[in-house]
Amino acid sequence: MNRLEAYKEVVPPGTIEFLMLLAEKVRGKRILEINSTQVGGGVAEMLQSLVPLFREIGLECAWEVITGTEEFFNVTKSFHNALQGREQNISPQMLQTYLEINRENAGRLSLDADYVIIHDPQPAALIENRKSGGKWIWRCHIDISSPQLKAWNFLRQFVVKYDTAIFSLPGFARKLPIPQFLIYPSIDPLSDKNRELSSEEQSRILGKLNIPLDKPILLQVSRFDRFKDPLGVIQAYRLAKKHHDVRLILAGGSATDDPEGEVVLSEVRTAAQNDPDIIILMLPPDAHLEINALQRAATIVLQKSLKEGFGLTVTEAMWKGKPVIGGFAGGITVQLVYGVTGFSVYSVEGAALRIHSLLDNPALRTKMGEDAREYVRRNFLITRNLGNYLALMAYLG
Ligand code: UDP
Repeated sequence: MNRLEAYKEVVPPGTIEFLMLLAEKVRGKRILEINSTQVGGGVAEMLQSLVPLFREIGLECAWEVITGTEEFFNVTKSFHNALQGREQNISPQMLQTYLEINRENAGRLSLDADYVIIHDPQPAALIENRKSGGKWIWRCHIDISSPQLKAWNFLRQFVVKYDTAIFSLPGFARKLPIPQFLIYPSIDPLSDKNRELSSEEQSRILGKLNIPLDKPILLQVSRFDRFKDPLGVIQAYRLAKKHHDVRLILAGGSATDDPEGEVVLSEVRTAAQNDPDIIILMLPPDAHLEINALQRAATIVLQKSLKEGFGLTVTEAMWKGKPVIGGFAGGITVQLVYGVTGFSVYSVEGAALRIHSLLDNPALRTKMGEDAREYVRRNFLITRNLGNYLALMAYLG
């Protein structure tokens, strides 16, 4: 069975037929996707599935990753923080480094395609080396609704040169002289991260990770990043623990474009204070089956982000039929329909309260999980995302 046929078994009826019709409009065109990391984080995760699917449906699709020095990734991490509203000191030297590395990458990469899709701020300045012909699309995955203005004004000079920009939520759009589109991110239901696992497979994987299954599991899967609020998760767990004997698993790794991870991880270790019921797992970037098994083993999944682009870990957990408690941030709010597909919370106490009430109510957990899965089927699977891209490309011509 080819992959498109396999999707038919999980996506809403008629989806694949509709995609084939849309693909007719752009068949044979060349797409070039460019981002800043091959593994780690939601963007890489999505590209790993989208790129082969574009090919399967009849387009040429290449994926390139920009390379840079440690200094460059420190600079882009500061940009990332500043664009998501955290005060950062951005010096002229940092802007210089950003421009130089983008220039170097432009020299190394062939930027020739019918549609060049640039993801996030790190490679945004590649547009300075645009060749004639192709359409350039800037796909922003982060929350830039209230950025530090210095960082945004710097980035904006590049963004306005694109043919169009895509954001993950309506609230993330900015005042720009180019058309802006909304495309929700998505997960791949057939990937190792999300496919069904047999109970033997699941037990084997959890056994290898040494995860005891003797009490309910609260799980957060996230890069160790302050915006993901792992310390808040530990505090919420501690409050809930007063009433329920639960275990907390914080599973994460680091992305190659995220130099802050080590520092946050050591803060988390300190906060956990050798509590035997807190398991901190550092996973390699290809631990997809492990994350899949952990999400399936969880009783409740947490994603207590303070700022979030979209929050694919929420989608992943919902797809596995789990009730999710998420921070009231970014795309988490469009996924968690309050009280139906999950709960979004504003505080540690709010998270603890919802953990407490969900642990007390197994029927609600089951119903919420079922509704969450159907919500993802209709709105957040890769086939819907592919359709959005095809329609946008057909529009751009
Ligand atoms: N992820 C992973 N390993 C980790 C942490 C996260 O594979 O240690 C995956 C996670 O399953 C999800 C993605 O990385 O698919 C994170 O996407 P999300 O949108 O939640 O957050 P981002 O990291 O992009 O801010």
